[in-house]
Amino acid sequence: MAIIVQKYGGTSVGSLNRIEAVADNIIKTRQQGHQVVVVLSAMSGETNRLLAMAHSLDKQPSNRELDMLLATGEQTSIALLAIALIQRGYSAVSLLAHQIGILTDNHFGRARIKSIDNKRLLQSLEQEQIVIVAGFQGVDVEKNITTLGRGGSDTSAIAIAATLGASECQIFTDVDGIYTADPRVVPAARKLDCISFDEMLVMANLGAKVLHNRSVEYAMRHNLPIRVLSSFCEGKGTRVINQQNEEWLLKQQDISSVVHQQQEVMISLSDIPTNEVVDAIFIALANENIDVDMINQSFHNRRSEIITPLISLSFTLHKRDRLHAVSVLQNVTQTYHLPTIKIVENIAKLSVVGVGVKSQVDMVFSILAQKNITISLIFSSEIHISVIINEIDLIKGLDALHDAFNLTLLT
Ligand code: ASP
Ligand code: MG
Repeated sequence: MAIIVQKYGGTSVGSLNRIEAVADNIIKTRQQGHQVVVVLSAMSGETNRLLAMAHSLDKQPSNRELDMLLATGEQTSIALLAIALIQRGYSAVSLLAHQIGILTDNHFGRARIKSIDNKRLLQSLEQEQIVIVAGFQGVDVEKNITTLGRGGSDTSAIAIAATLGASECQIFTDVDGIYTADPRVVPAARKLDCISFDEMLVMANLGAKVLHNRSVEYAMRHNLPIRVLSSFCEGKGTRVINQQNEEWLLKQQDISSVVHQQQEVMISLSDIPTNEVVDAIFIALANENIDVDMINQSFHNRRSEIITPLISLSFTLHKRDRLHAVSVLQNVTQTYHLPTIKIVENIAKLSVVGVGVKSQVDMVFSILAQKNITISLIFSSEIHISVIINEIDLIKGLDALHDAFNLTLLT
């Protein structure tokens, strides 16, 4: 008998019919003799509905109260699932984060889990109950309700699975696994049997929406395999595992996927006189908690006498931080008498991910060049290369890279 942790996302519990289907799925696992802990998201659309209500009262609602509000979405779904299971003759109990001691820091809206007290969980499992936990939420030391950031239920599930020593955490969603590209955009995309933690983490950070990035970090730290699978159809899904795992060594492929993201804008500043001013720019953004993504710095000579070259800086950041960033940067440009900031909105980030990417950088450039796609920014690491291109070239670029790296044909 093993402890199995199953997480169901918003679409999987999006209606009463879906909740009944999930109840049946859980019972199947239970009948195989396993102890089951379930982590749920709110019913699909609910978190957005709650957010919209708050924003219609105040454009910048209090972060503490937002967390208090958003956490109610999961309270509804867990109670409904427990009711459905009890109706089917099973013993089930729904529990909120504070009831099982999911302790987080106090960063409302993006809290991190510090610890989980597994006493109550184990007690309920011993009593043969199916335990249903509210995902996405925690509680800080002062007993304020916190939330883990959008998509955070994945992280709740992984953290609970790690605490309980589960052998695998199953993430049920509306797609049947991790793909070589977003199948809605690249029809030739193929489902992967397995992928490494490192690759998955990069993909999650790059905009693949299947798993919350922190959940992958957590699983990697605890070496806890994840299985992503559909709650709508049967299948083995995709395993997210350690690179030392035999399964990975057998299947290893050089390039795993092409990921795209259209959530960023590019900001450029020019005629920056010194590195101290560059520092001032990034410090000003960091002080306002604005995350900067890809950065490029270049030097050019002053038009008249050459003294020290001037610095040009381009970087990307999330669209939602755009206005905030501009107001912060305007203070800096005024202080240092810099030219106006330039913002480019219609950009897309295209990334190739895989352990073999290091040796394929030239290929990425030549494929995009053949398609006449201009690259504005580049970033590469051991296992990925990302480029910023015009949004209009996105599909062309995605298809070309997916084809060139034979992702459709992988076995
Ligand atoms: N309900 C939250 C959201 O919509 C958390 C989650 O679904 O993982 O982001
Ligand atoms: Mg999700």
